[in-house]
Amino acid sequence: MTAYKIDTLCVTGKPDYEANDKTGAIALPIYQSATFAHPELGKSTGYDYSRLKNPTRDHLEKLVASLDGAEFGFAFNCGLAAITALADAIILNEKKGQVFHVICSDDLYGGTERFLNTIGQKLGFETSYTDTSELSNIKAAKKENTKIIFVETPGNPLMKVTDIALTAEYARSIGALLIVDNTFLTPYLQQPLSLGADIVVQSGTKFLCGHNDTLAGFITTNNKKIAENLEIITKTTGSALPAFDSFLLVRGIKTLAVRMERHCENALKIVDALQKNPRVKGILFPGLPQSKGYEISKKQAKGFGSMISFYVDSVETVERVLKSVKVIHFAESLGGVDTLITYPATQTHVDVPEEERNVRGITNTLLRLSVGIENSEDLIQDLEQAIG
Ligand SMILES: *Cc1c(COP(=O)(O)O)cnc(C)c1O
Repeated sequence: MTAYKIDTLCVTGKPDYEANDKTGAIALPIYQSATFAHPELGKSTGYDYSRLKNPTRDHLEKLVASLDGAEFGFAFNCGLAAITALADAIILNEKKGQVFHVICSDDLYGGTERFLNTIGQKLGFETSYTDTSELSNIKAAKKENTKIIFVETPGNPLMKVTDIALTAEYARSIGALLIVDNTFLTPYLQQPLSLGADIVVQSGTKFLCGHNDTLAGFITTNNKKIAENLEIITKTTGSALPAFDSFLLVRGIKTLAVRMERHCENALKIVDALQKNPRVKGILFPGLPQSKGYEISKKQAKGFGSMISFYVDSVETVERVLKSVKVIHFAESLGGVDTLITYPATQTHVDVPEEERNVRGITNTLLRLSVGIENSEDLIQDLEQAIG
C-alpha cells in the first residue's frame, strides 16, 4: 500500500478507508442517525447506536489517527472532554482511592489546570507543576507514585518548549506514561507519538478545525489498553463528537497543511515587526533563534506554529491594543484562519492567582496572538496602529 504524505492524507483520509457510501460522493456523508438497523439477530453493520460509534465520526477518528501515526483515535465534544475521558480511562482499572502523581508542565492550558486541580484531584490525580523544558525539573518532581508526565509543548502562554524524545525516554525509565498536548502545532508540524510519547491529546477546536466554528477534541495512541478503556468511557459517558461536527472537522482538516504553512509564514513576519516596535518589551516565540526552545523546536517540529506571546510597556498599552485592533479580534481561543489576540491574565489564566501568575511570567502586560492566514501586511499594520 502506498504510504501517502501527510498533506495528501489531510485531503483524502486514511488510504485504506472504504466509505460505506456507494454514490461516489467526494465529500464525507453526514450520518445524522442516532441508531442503525441490524440485518438479523446477532448481526450488526458495525454501527448500532451513535453514542458508541457513528460512521462520520469513525472516518474522522481514523483520519486523525493516521495523521498522528496512531493505531487508535477518538473524537470528543471538545478538548477538555477528551482530557476528562482520558483521565477516566487511566483510572478505570485501578483500585478505588488510589492516588496517582502527575508531573505537569507549568506552562499549561488554563482549563487543563482547572480540571486537574478540581475534578482530577477527586479522581485521585495529585499534580506537581514544573518547568518541563528542563528534564532535571521533571526528575526533581518525581515521586514513588508518579504515573503520568503531561506536557504541553510549546506551552501556553509562555511558549516553553519541552524535548519530547528526552522526556519520553525518562517516562519509560520510571514506568510513567507521557501525554503530550499537541494543540499548538498539530500533527502537520509535530508528531509526538513518533518521538516516543504514549498518548496525544489535542483540542480540535483550534488548528485542526481551523475556522473557529466547532468545538472538538482528540486522543490518539498506540496503547491498546488505553484505547480499550476509551471505548468503554465513550460508551458509558457519551462525550463523543456528533456527526455534523465530525463532518466539519473532516472538512477543516482538508486544508490543514496549507493553513499551517501560511500560519507559520505569517507568524515569522509578525515577530519581525514586533521586534522593531519600541513598546514591545519581550517576545515569546520558539522560532526566535535566541529563544531557549529554538534548537529543540528545530529538532522535533517541522515549524514553529503561529502562537506568539509578547510583553508590552504598560497596562495602558494592553487596554489600547485590545480596544483598537480592527482586522484582529480580541477573543479567546486560537488556531483559526482569523487572527485573535488574547489577554491571558483575565482570560485563559484567570483561575491562576495573580501572585502565581507574576512568578510564572503571565503578567498584566502579556498578550497572546494566534496569527491567522490573512495578508501579513494588513495584520502588521493593524498591530502597529493598535500598539501605537
Ligand atoms: C483550547 C485548548 C484545550 C481545550 O480544548 P477545548 O476544545 O476548548 O475544550 C486544551 N489544550 C489546549 C492547548 C488548548 O488550547
